[in-house]
Amino acid sequence: MEHRRRLGEKSLARDGVLDLLLAPSHHLFISPHYDDIALSCGGTVALLARYRRYPRVAVVFGEEPPETIELTPFAAKTHAAWGMEPREVVAVRRREEADAADLLGAEVTLLPFHDAIYRGHRYVGDETLFAEPAPDEGDLPSHVAAELGLVADQLEETRLYAPLAVGRHVDHQIAFAAGVMLAQEGWEVWFYEDLPYALQPGARDDRLRSVGEPLRVAGEVDVSGTWQTKAAAIMAYPSQLPTVFKRAGIGASREEIDAGMREYAGRGRASVPVECFWRLDPSHTPTGGSSLSGM
Ligand SMILES: [Zn+2]
Repeated sequence: MEHRRRLGEKSLARDGVLDLLLAPSHHLFISPHYDDIALSCGGTVALLARYRRYPRVAVVFGEEPPETIELTPFAAKTHAAWGMEPREVVAVRRREEADAADLLGAEVTLLPFHDAIYRGHRYVGDETLFAEPAPDEGDLPSHVAAELGLVADQLEETRLYAPLAVGRHVDHQIAFAAGVMLAQEGWEVWFYEDLPYALQPGARDDRLRSVGEPLRVAGEVDVSGTWQTKAAAIMAYPSQLPTVFKRAGIGASREEIDAGMREYAGRGRASVPVECFWRLDPSHTPTGGSSLSGM
């Protein structure tokens, strides 16, 4: 019953969603890693660019690993899976990000935080990388929020996009927590569904149930017109595709990725592919929704 009601909400949300999407003049996408935005909501970014909304992407955890640290065996194994030497990893990933951003029409900013696999010995395997963030990193969401360079005067004309953290990668959870903090401060924040993690059956609904915040659909954006651009942007990350899609049980060819992503984006509800965004239920935020009006 609850499920059916949620679907009903979604089809309502789709009506007029383009106007809703385009309403703010500033759009900032918080991307935990280099590839997350193209994968999760690249169609929406391309659509915003097409309508001259000049979307920006802030890559949070893309800083070079400190030269002085010795890589953990897990980090070394991850580099090997990406097929790269430690020295070239960040340069290659930044080049991929720049290529994807060019295709999508976005501007990229790099924030000074290290990927979880380089943050000491906190995350040394999938068991810790996809679990609760380490207790001593409780301040990290506020540091991330502070580095976004938000201008308080632009609060009314800005929408932020943060990951829902489907799949529970710790870096995505930290970015999600930063998004929740900012929403509670009065910023409009839309949470995107992390792909390809969300391709796992039930993963998105598990996250929505366990997230600890009441969320509802903000809008479903029809990305049929920018789907090919999104697909091309995803293919701009050759170092990541095999490992990223292997987790979802999908091969790394364009055809396989396209089919898997298209199935998710359609999800049997409509003939058009959509990217779905969520927001905190305004009645549960301290601002009571007044500064989140128009929704
Ligand atoms: Zn990521």
